[in-house]
Order: sequence, then C-alpha cells, then structure tokens
Amino acid sequence: MPQLGHGFTCHPALVLVGEHPRDITNDVGHPKSYFVDRAAEDGFVLETCMYFPFVTAKSLTGFGASHSAMMRAFPRLQMILLLACDRAVPGNRVGVDRAGRPVVHYRFTPETLKALARGTRAAVRIFFAAGARRVHVPADPPLITASEADRLDARVAARHFLPGRVSISAAHLMGGCGMGGSTADSVTDAWGRVHGLPWLRVADASLFPDSLEINPYLTIMALADRVAECVRAEVREPVNA
Ligand SMILES: Cc1cc2nc3c(=O)[nH]c(=O)nc-3n(C[C@H](O)[C@H](O)[C@H](O)COP(=O)(O)OP(=O)(O)OC[C@H]3O[C@@H](n4cnc5c(N)ncnc54)[C@H](O)[C@@H]3O)c2cc1C
Repeated sequence: MPQLGHGFTCHPALVLVGEHPRDITNDVGHPKSYFVDRAAEDGFVLETCMYFPFVTAKSLTGFGASHSAMMRAFPRLQMILLLACDRAVPGNRVGVDRAGRPVVHYRFTPETLKALARGTRAAVRIFFAAGARRVHVPADPPLITASEADRLDARVAARHFLPGRVSISAAHLMGGCGMGGSTADSVTDAWGRVHGLPWLRVADASLFPDSLEINPYLTIMALADRVAECVRAEVREPVNA
C-alpha cells in the first residue's frame, strides 16, 4: 500500500476581518450565504462567515494593540473565510507514530502561499468596497487602512504567510486513502474497496485523490452513499457466490 496516507490536503484557512465605522449585523442569518469561487484561476475560495470572539481572537495575526483594537470592535467586524485550494503533493501525508497515533506531515507549497496572499488581497478589496475603514490581515503591520487600498500588492505578499507568523486553521481534511486504478496510484477502487482486501471499505473524506476546491461535505456524503450502494449490491449478489 505505497499510497496509504498520501495525497493529504486540507484547505488551509484564514479568518479575515474588516472594521466598519458602525455596528453591523454580521451575526444575523446564515453565516456562509455568499462565496467567491476562484479556485480554477487563483487557487482560493472566499466565504462570508461569522466566528465567535474566541475563534476570531485566535485567528487574527499577531498580538498586542492592533489585535486588541480589532477585538474591541467586534460588533463592527465583517468577516471573510479564505480557503486555499492546496494540491496533493509528495510529503504531505498522514502517518502513524511509534505509539500507533495518527500524525499529519504538512508543509505549505509556494503555490499555496501565493494563493493565500491572492485570496487575502481579494478579501481586502471586498471589505473596502463594502465600506470598511480598516482591515486586519497577515501583513506587516497587520492593520491596513482604506487609504492604502492602492498598495495591496506590496502590503500583502506570500512572504507574510510564514509558519509561526500567522494562525492558519483547516477544517476540510481530505485524502489519505484515495480512489484509483491500482495500488501504484491509490488505496481503494472507485467503490471504496481497499485494493486486495475487497471486504474492507473506506467511505469518508479520505477517498479524495486530491483537493476538492470547494467545501467537501456534500461530496463526502455522496461518496459514502455510493460505497453503501455497492455493499448493498454485493449483499444481494455475494461476490463469491
Ligand atoms: C468547524 C468545522 C466547520 C466545517 N464547515 C463545513 C462547511 O461549512 N461545509 C462543508 O462542506 N464542510 C465543512 N466542514 C468539513 C466537514 O464537516 C468534514 O469534511 C466532514 O464532516 C468529514 O466527514 P467524514 O465522514 O470524513 O469524517 P467525520 O464527519 O469526522 O466522521 C468521522 C466519524 O468517525 C468517528 N470515529 C473516529 N474514530 C473512531 C473509531 N476509532 N471508532 C469508531 N468511530 C470513530 C467519529 O466520531 C466521527 O463520527 C467543517 C468542519 C469543521 C471541523
């Protein structure tokens, strides 16, 4: 099983905030009601969102005065979730440590870092177009005012997205038991059956051979349903009958 654990992707994500001059109703209604899908061209997806103070606080870049200023403005904050559509690359994988616990090995590729920077600049433009007077994003310094809107390429760049400098999260864990034709390129067949062990099925997000480039939940359910259909068919007509 040379591909077991490989092909792991996770949509590295950032919560970005823009501060408006007056209170807004960011906490009313469905939080993910609009999205910008630029995955094919630019490698990112933007979604409207609302996170509670704790998650917002741990997601912002840096510490101290600028961080505190944004958190104090919480009722005036507009939020955008940025997902980078990372690709399956060698080295990014799920392994097992000596105690048998799962371990994720993951590094950002230059393409993922560029996608994070591009997506951040796009989100900043949306904040300012919506009337925000300043935004807080991974930049140096992290507070960007509306008067700097024409300098975004210089203010937000891939060099600002370094490990330890920004708080990046991931909720869409994909891959590790990818579907495919043989053990050379995959772990299961197109019905979630593990190659060589047809009684063993995989029916979750680990089936994806690569990043989905959109929120994965519906596709995961569809794949699980497909695996279940195959189980049902084989129960009716046992494979070895
Ligand atoms: C905060 C957050 C927000 C998200 N928002 C969205 C969204 O807006 N849209 C979207 O599409 N996706 C979203 N996702 C992603 C989505 O929820 C996941 O991709 C999806 O649930 C993964 O499905 P899964 O079946 O692979 O795994 P899971 O849903 O994690 O299911 C795994 C199950 O296995 C069980 N389990 C684990 N170990 C064992 C064991 N040893 N024995 C028995 N059972 C075990 C667990 O209890 C769990 O029930 C979000 C995820 C998070 C965390």
